[in-house]
Amino acid sequence: MNAPFLPNPDLPSGDSGMLQPPRANSTPALDSASPIARNFSPDMTLPSVPKLRPSGPLAGVPVAIVGAGPVGSWTAALFGHAGAAVRLYDDGILNTGFVNAGWGFAYHSSDPAAGPLAAQGIELYRRLAGTVLPRGVVTEEWSTVQRARNAEPLPAGLAGLPGYRLLELEELYRDMIEGVIVKSVVVPGQLLLPALADLHQQYGVRRIHQHVPDPAALTDAAFVVNSTGLASAWLFEDTEFSPSMGTVVRLQKPEGFTGVHAWDNGTNTAPYAISQEATGQVVVGGTTTPVSVAQARRWVEAGSQPDEETGERVLEQIKSYLPELSEAEFVRTDTGIRPERRRILLARHHGDTTVFHATGFGGFGVTVAPAVALRLVEAAIAAVAT
Ligand SMILES: Cc1cc2nc3c(=O)[nH]c(=O)nc-3n(C[C@H](O)[C@H](O)[C@H](O)COP(=O)(O)OP(=O)(O)OC[C@H]3O[C@@H](n4cnc5c(N)ncnc54)[C@H](O)[C@@H]3O)c2cc1C
Repeated sequence: MNAPFLPNPDLPSGDSGMLQPPRANSTPALDSASPIARNFSPDMTLPSVPKLRPSGPLAGVPVAIVGAGPVGSWTAALFGHAGAAVRLYDDGILNTGFVNAGWGFAYHSSDPAAGPLAAQGIELYRRLAGTVLPRGVVTEEWSTVQRARNAEPLPAGLAGLPGYRLLELEELYRDMIEGVIVKSVVVPGQLLLPALADLHQQYGVRRIHQHVPDPAALTDAAFVVNSTGLASAWLFEDTEFSPSMGTVVRLQKPEGFTGVHAWDNGTNTAPYAISQEATGQVVVGGTTTPVSVAQARRWVEAGSQPDEETGERVLEQIKSYLPELSEAEFVRTDTGIRPERRRILLARHHGDTTVFHATGFGGFGVTVAPAVALRLVEAAIAAVAT
């Protein structure tokens, strides 16, 4: 099965055929940009949701979504909200990415499409917190991000975040040369996915536990969304993937420990700790080990075992940065693979079925997922209207 990712001249937004997010300096306010975003205003509460469905802009349009990670789950919710008849397939492996650590942030990426999507994703999480998403799924935390001389520059998008302030020299850790403090959004994956599953129920999304060997073969759907994460690399013979493995360790949150703390020391173990108020845990991590697609696939097919040895290393390192975590009770170690791609893939391909590809979100898939979902629904609405 080889659906190529062809440019699509009649795609509504973007002349290259790729779905283009708005440019950073011209991001339209979501209210005016999209009827879907408008309906997802902070005033919207869950009980009013089902009433919106019959008159939604995609009323009754059959949509199949393959992959129920954060991207597919958000996409199913927004298509359902627009009135589509949604089937959401997942093979239950749930391990080509890694959703448990999820925290929103204006992630820096060499892909210029990703930054604006992350910013929009964070805005959506903020707006939907406590209304469409139940209280506690999204929390705001003070975050510090610091970098060493040999590390990448700090993400440019941080300057626009609430509470932005440059850290004073005496606030920096050891060999760090600069840092900022901002308010960021924390979204634990283990709370987000069940909340989205509840939305699916509200919108009548059919969740189907099934492996789909060829998404393009779902010809009874008007639109198929490929949100299979890393598996897209082998399902579509996509050679642009360059995945990386990461390990996180979960600890019981010590009394009084708060915030998100990240240090980019320019190595492949740049430590971070994320306090999750809602789960009562702290997630620590920061490892990045590049793997080939073949290695990644073998690891997935062998059951995605956690890398306990790396977990030990993560723990040792974070204790030197944050001694207050030294006595924290260990909960578990998890390893995942970031579905990294040279460029994120947000494009559609016309074959017998219209397949929207939405993958390659690397280390920021949870962050961008609602914004990606919005783009996909808007593209489908535009396609139906023409
Ligand atoms: C250690 C680590 C920490 C991370 N921390 C963060 C973070 O803090 N914030 C953040 O935003 N992101 C983070 N990420 C990245 C994030 O987890 C990924 O970007 C995200 O999971 C990608 O989402 P997705 O929906 O595209 O794909 P996935 O989450 O990989 O979901 C794809 C789903 O499709 C299913 N599937 C695949 N093929 C098929 C098929 N043929 N038929 C049916 N189902 C199929 C899979 O089983 C899976 O459930 C982290 C990743 C790692 C490894």
